[in-house]
Amino acid sequence: MNFYQNTLTNLQKAAKIMKLDQETLDVLSHPQKTLVVTLPVRMDDGKMQYFEAYRVQHSDLRGPFKGGIRYLPAVNLDEIKALATEMTFKCAVAGIPYGGGKGGVCCDSKNMSEKEIERMTRKYVQAIYQIIGPEHDIPAPDMYTTPKIMAWFMDEFSKLEDCYTPGVVTGKPLEIGGSLGRDTATAQGGAYVLEEYMKKHNMPIEKTKVIVQGFGNAGSFAAEILHSMGFIIIGLSDSTGGIYNEKGMDPFVVAKVKKEKGSVTKCNEGEVVTNEQLLEKHCDVLVLAAMENQVNEKNMKNIKAKIVLELANGPTTSEADEHLKEKGVVVIPDILANSGGVTVSYFEWLQNHVQYYWPLEEVQAKLKRSMIEALVRILDFMQEHKCTMRMAAYISAFDRLDKARKMRGC
Ligand code: NAD
Repeated sequence: MNFYQNTLTNLQKAAKIMKLDQETLDVLSHPQKTLVVTLPVRMDDGKMQYFEAYRVQHSDLRGPFKGGIRYLPAVNLDEIKALATEMTFKCAVAGIPYGGGKGGVCCDSKNMSEKEIERMTRKYVQAIYQIIGPEHDIPAPDMYTTPKIMAWFMDEFSKLEDCYTPGVVTGKPLEIGGSLGRDTATAQGGAYVLEEYMKKHNMPIEKTKVIVQGFGNAGSFAAEILHSMGFIIIGLSDSTGGIYNEKGMDPFVVAKVKKEKGSVTKCNEGEVVTNEQLLEKHCDVLVLAAMENQVNEKNMKNIKAKIVLELANGPTTSEADEHLKEKGVVVIPDILANSGGVTVSYFEWLQNHVQYYWPLEEVQAKLKRSMIEALVRILDFMQEHKCTMRMAAYISAFDRLDKARKMRGC
């Protein structure tokens, strides 16, 4: 089952549990608009290269389309459709007035120069310019896209509009309209939810052992934040492999080594293991912060964690999800766990509109309140429908989307 089918299966299962109006399910099972473009980019050697790129606008029932952009060689339309669909549900779970969208460019950005990435980004903006805008569709960073890329994105759009338009994209550097706390928001939001869930279930943080898969934006900050809260980080990984140390490691040290040497495996905080081995090690909390389909039919029987925190989008397949449910593993689902990122993106967009910027404490206090409200609402739906947290999260979103659709009469 591919990621998109997996997402649609989740929608269908939740709709069945809550006896959702079939029309609402049908509307939300199709993206509103799908744009596929080719970007001709002059490379540093003078030759042209052609990159396929996408922007999918899934739903604007509750507000403008919102969702990140990823630069990866394996990006494909189904993946972007799945991610755009998830964004609609994530924004509804978080209770923020956005719909869902997503974008991607098929490229090996790791092996491109900064100038090549800049030229490609500007071409991408030119190609999708007519369907985006601060009141229409607001992109953001995702895998292998950075604040610097968002700055080029905003600059190109502002040139085309002939008007300074910071609100067209979020995740920008602070100097040009970024928000304090946006860089850590996805991880911080996940940490708030995990902490609150554990508090409600009388689970102490001390001695809780954590493995984090993925050491990029979401994963590295998650490891650092959880470590600072008193969790013991026993395993970390990136695309080159993992490290494991039963006694715990300091993610700040690992981050420093990764920055200098390019890989967590170059750090001697733990023994080197493969990505596959790391996921199957004993731990209390497994944080998935890399990419989709990581816990699947092949490894689901060997997952030993008690809680899975999904900071990545779609990291658990439907089959694995069923299996984890049978085993009693609590999965804090992506559309709740990683919604801190889009929530602070929303705060950034609000600040851009009024050109008045909030201190970090204010951003974090508002984020915490929003994450806990979303969790409490989901726990209530979980109890009402006797279902998993993932299903309750989809039900929470469907409930808001269904009402919006009916009020709008569409
Ligand atoms: P990123 O590019 O900053 O980091 C991705 C990390 O995953 C890198 O360290 C990479 O080396 C690692 N990785 C890739 N394949 C791996 C594998 N097989 N095993 C272990 N590590 C692997 O991306 P990110 O922004 O941190 O996004 C990670 C996930 O979180 C994605 O699914 C993304 O959609 C999701 N997400 C991110 C945000 C955000 O604000 N950045 C918000 C919501 C969801």
